[in-house]
Amino acid sequence: MSQETIYKTVYQYNKVPISAKDMERLLEIAEDCRKVRNFVYDRYGGIGGLAKIYPGYTVQNEMTHSGLRERLGLPSVYFYLSIFDALGDIKSQWARTKSRIEANIKENEKLTPEDRHYLRFVMKQSRCFEAVLAGGEPELEGDWKETYHTLCAGVDVHRLDQYLRRQVRRHLVKPHTDAADGFTASPKGYRYADHGIYLSMKESRRRLFIPLTDNNRYTRQVFIRLYPKEGSITINVPVEVKRKHPAGYEGQRGLAMGLRCMFVTDTGTSYGERYLEYQSALTDYVRKKLPRHRRNAKNNPGMKKYNAGKARLETALHSYINAEINRMLETEKPGTLYFPKLPAVSKTGVNRKINASVSMWQKGYVKSRLAQKCKERSIELVEVFGKGIGTECSRCGAEGVKDGDMFRCASCGLEMPERQNTAANVLKRGKNMQAESARKREMKEGGIQKESEFPEKK
Ligand SMILES: [Zn+2]
Repeated sequence: MSQETIYKTVYQYNKVPISAKDMERLLEIAEDCRKVRNFVYDRYGGIGGLAKIYPGYTVQNEMTHSGLRERLGLPSVYFYLSIFDALGDIKSQWARTKSRIEANIKENEKLTPEDRHYLRFVMKQSRCFEAVLAGGEPELEGDWKETYHTLCAGVDVHRLDQYLRRQVRRHLVKPHTDAADGFTASPKGYRYADHGIYLSMKESRRRLFIPLTDNNRYTRQVFIRLYPKEGSITINVPVEVKRKHPAGYEGQRGLAMGLRCMFVTDTGTSYGERYLEYQSALTDYVRKKLPRHRRNAKNNPGMKKYNAGKARLETALHSYINAEINRMLETEKPGTLYFPKLPAVSKTGVNRKINASVSMWQKGYVKSRLAQKCKERSIELVEVFGKGIGTECSRCGAEGVKDGDMFRCASCGLEMPERQNTAANVLKRGKNMQAESARKREMKEGGIQKESEFPEKK
């Protein structure tokens, strides 16, 4: 988890000492979980594992068939949680590696702008990235293929691919763990009852009962930490907390959102300017490649190929969206972010049905990712009523006109990029809304703040 984490840990304690024999059984589970994690790290933590870790079903299937669980005699709940933990570590290792390489690319003065373009493209296209790392030629389709070949034309592909491989080898670290001081458990592996907790054990259908000092019950993934010398355990429960404005996140920002550019701020900064490029690649693909015969959809080879191609473009679009949301939040560092209620999808266009279904879905995706990422950073995200927000003057409030990309107000003479004017209106309406609801709240509650809903550590 990152430093902007929104969880705090609540602890639960055993009420009576745990017998040496029971502790032995718990330690055995912890040791087995460690083995599973290291097994996953070894097998999938390297360059060769990259193609398998997203979205991870492959790893899960291969692990199921590896026979490791049976050899260990480990309950499946612990087995699969260990796999997911390990996969999470591998993914963050890749994320760290990539961001380090991106920084190096930016700073490397020997690279031309064309070189950088090429490298960034390869890194963002997972297919491309995997192929280059494996030392082969990427197999791309449609627009991606075209873009790729255009980018290749101006650079020394062989040299850049080698550079990228060197960078990955230098920065990618295969995780490994020696710690066997506990294990992760989900509600499938435990049950709260009788002033304590029942934990799944390696012996089938036998649960170990541990009386606890409190009667709190949680329904999430917990970590059971073992203290063999003391004969005790703690149950570490991640609890979501509302934390206001962590390090550096403050102030208020308004956003205009759109297809041409994902976000424009009230100060005129743009993010996601290539959104449409990614979106069109997907939309065009859906329009041109959707097989006519949809009968027997599951086993139809044309349909399979189509779905695979579509999934690739979706992944590319999604990683672009996520990267741009991150970049926006980390650059702007807002405490509160206002965005307009998004307009309905335009009903024009040749392939109305398909276009609409694809772009509508992406709109939802952008919104849900923005919401999640704001939550992770404790940024308050507020939706603002959007009617007429594009034609109102953000300085004087009069009705203005849009002239191409510019907004002009005849009353006060304001002239500014149309999207920026929209974003400024979003900010203005958001601030008014907040002031209004704060006033109402104060009247209702007499200004008394609510106590935290979460139990403190005891
Ligand atoms: Zn005006």
